[in-house]
Amino acid sequence: MADPAHIRDDFPILDREVDGEPLVYLDNAATTQTPTQVYDVFREYYEEYNANIHRGIHGLSHEASVAYEEAHERIAEFVGASGGLEEIVFTKNATEAVNIVAYGMGMQEFGPGDNVVVTEMEHHASLVTWQQVARRTGAEIRYVRVDEEGHLDMEHAAELIDDDTRMLSVAHVSNVLGTVNPVAELADLAHDHGALVFLDGAQSVPNRPVDVDDLDVDFLAFSGHKMCGPTGIGALYGKRHLLEEMEPYLYGGEMIRKVTFEESTWEDLPWKFEAGTPPIAEGIALAAAADYLDGIGMEAVAAHENELAQYAMDRLAERDDVAVYGVPRGEERSGLVAFNVDGVHGHDLSSVLNDHGIAVRAGDHCTQPLHDRLDVPGSVRASFYVYNTEREVDALIDALEGARERRDELVASDRFHDRFA
Ligand code: PMP
Repeated sequence: MADPAHIRDDFPILDREVDGEPLVYLDNAATTQTPTQVYDVFREYYEEYNANIHRGIHGLSHEASVAYEEAHERIAEFVGASGGLEEIVFTKNATEAVNIVAYGMGMQEFGPGDNVVVTEMEHHASLVTWQQVARRTGAEIRYVRVDEEGHLDMEHAAELIDDDTRMLSVAHVSNVLGTVNPVAELADLAHDHGALVFLDGAQSVPNRPVDVDDLDVDFLAFSGHKMCGPTGIGALYGKRHLLEEMEPYLYGGEMIRKVTFEESTWEDLPWKFEAGTPPIAEGIALAAAADYLDGIGMEAVAAHENELAQYAMDRLAERDDVAVYGVPRGEERSGLVAFNVDGVHGHDLSSVLNDHGIAVRAGDHCTQPLHDRLDVPGSVRASFYVYNTEREVDALIDALEGARERRDELVASDRFHDRFA
């Protein structure tokens, strides 16, 4: 089991105050904090071997190239990609990873008569991107329903996925509902019809063991900044033969093998998809983040988050003015809880919480269609990570009491039904 008391020592930022109140950081589904072990690696890169990779034969460039390549290997291992470095493309974030496949495959190959199946709980990163693929290619986009308890309607999924489905794109874990989707089952369903599976792992890779070979997904996207790594780095996993067949999405230096005035050929995987100078320090630090998380153990991370989420659900259930969304109390969920307090606008609520040093997020969390489906203008989301404690959940609940006391004043703002993006 993760031991936050010990882990917190690795995160100096958690000792800071916000307007005189100790920071209670519950915005981890947006971005996690970074442990010293990770930014030490970042600093070491700049202090000792900062250089551009692959082009130079000088010592620093060689060291940077080796470290950058090893970082790909490490990330392959972290997500169970048996093909190693060739199956891991470093990107700016999860969003870019989706776009690489959307442009490199969807926009090139899909057309009228084809369909792409996504779910109602998708983040805009994939929903908007596949919507554009459909719009530009004439393919149809289909949405798998989410039921009242935040589960995918699997019968509906089975109805929607047919022999014309080219891609099923699904979030492993919902960033609002806490749902952990049955990926292996969905992958079987899609593969039975010859469709590919794109897994959005932005909320799962940081929070639970993910093994692409076991799950048998064709692509996986995730971001470093949600898993103790730096911003500006994410990754795309793709099965080797698919990446080999796919067109690059960005062109330029680093991704070519031979260029003439007439034509160009592409580098081997994964470099074909990493045009220009890549995020070298960030990639190396991402591998350090994987080391850090494996040091705790991904099973322990998941168990800790689930435990805190259950505790938060129990505490929120004590209140009669709180609506919680997603999977019911007692059922496994990822470490986040989205809710609303009756009659209080989410921005007002998060502002009251901020007065207590508590960082949460209020808005649609890049899932506007899902919030339309829930019939609420937005929600407040508390999300937990390895360093959070039950005491911090208690602080959240106590601060909600403060919001209740100020409700008349807050309701007076009369904007509860305004969308809060
Ligand atoms: N998918 C999901 C489920 C997410 O929660 C997020 C981040 N909010 C993303 C994709 C996109 O991540 P990024 O903004 O780092 O590209």
